[in-house]
Amino acid sequence: MTAAVRDVSIFGEAIAYFNEAADLLELDSGMRRILTHPTRQIIFSIPFQRDSGEFEVFTGYRVQYSFARGPGKGGIRFHPGVTLDEVTALAFWMTWKCAVVDLPFGGAKGGVTCDPATLSSSELERITRRYAAELVEVVGPDKDVPAPDVNTTPQVMAWFMDTYSMHVRQNQPGVVTGKPLEIGGSRGRVEATGRGVTICTLDQMEHMGLNPKKAAIAIQGFGNVGMYAAKFLAERGCKIAGISDVTGAYYNEKGIDVAAAVSHAAKFHNLEGFDGGERISNAELLVSDCDVLVPAALENVFTSENAPKVNAKLIVEAANGPTTPEAASVFKERGIVVIPDIMGNAGGVTVSYFEWAQDRMGYFWKESEVNERLEDVLLTNLREIRAIAEKRGATLRTAAYTLAIDRVVKALKLRGIYA
Ligand code: GLU
Repeated sequence: MTAAVRDVSIFGEAIAYFNEAADLLELDSGMRRILTHPTRQIIFSIPFQRDSGEFEVFTGYRVQYSFARGPGKGGIRFHPGVTLDEVTALAFWMTWKCAVVDLPFGGAKGGVTCDPATLSSSELERITRRYAAELVEVVGPDKDVPAPDVNTTPQVMAWFMDTYSMHVRQNQPGVVTGKPLEIGGSRGRVEATGRGVTICTLDQMEHMGLNPKKAAIAIQGFGNVGMYAAKFLAERGCKIAGISDVTGAYYNEKGIDVAAAVSHAAKFHNLEGFDGGERISNAELLVSDCDVLVPAALENVFTSENAPKVNAKLIVEAANGPTTPEAASVFKERGIVVIPDIMGNAGGVTVSYFEWAQDRMGYFWKESEVNERLEDVLLTNLREIRAIAEKRGATLRTAAYTLAIDRVVKALKLRGIYA
């Protein structure tokens, strides 16, 4: 799903949300200055050999935004649209996401500008290993812990972990999360982001008096996040009226047969040819007739153009940065409630934290234990955000930033600025 091309800095726009909460907290200008600068940005070349024998060079990034609350944490994205600006914004969001669910991590993010659809598995492995090798000095269980993001899989994490472990001459599963179970992954990690979206959605629906058995939900994106969110929400009795992926959107007012869509996507790698709903465009899905909308693809999906036409009462951001600040003001004006990305999709990094903790203990939990702890972390913090929003008359987004900034600032002040 390609994000709309907009000639603005994603990081610049992300700061707009920060500023709104910083104003509410009456944060001093020095703190603002510190918190709006990434700690470290790394850009490097990734030369690799194609299966054909030809050499090519891609660009790799890792932005370590903040270490105030702990080691860096955040995924690695393989996508043609990856830029330093995007990775910086994503690392900035990781900082607030980890803080909002109270994990002992800072924030980071990585990426490679490439199109994995055009790469063979061995090409992908060479790129991943070179990417990991370039970062050996700056990542590690106590330094910065990468994870999956768009187009990066447990297999990619396994190659990253192996490359790092070979360099440091010891097994280090805790250098990366989202690994396969066999080499130190956590039960429930693959499904965790979609499960977290489901937990937040159902709790907010209950709070708003929306009956899950009657409400219609539309989900944009059918990757690891959107697909599991659709599956879990359908299992809880919700009607999934629409789904979409790069091939288009599929709408059925009686409800999509999610299990059929999941097996179609597993068989054909996308939803092309899925006949369980009327074929509409992705743009139409966003303004379709539904009560709850879950953007689960990329950034900048809601703009000043489509925001006035959105029909949903609740938007749960499963993607990072799907709402532009202009769209956010339209939603606020129209009374559309938005669970922001840093809360809505925090299920993934929360179970990453559990994976990191399990790796360090060398003791692994049952899936039910992982899921129970996940629900507890998400609901505790979602309810805290809601209380802040009500007390301050702010949106859930501003409340989430307020809670997160407050936690990061407290850590920074305790540690002091080393100079
Ligand atoms: N890429 C995911 C995110 O944006 C997960 C990050 C992690 O598990 O570290 O939250």
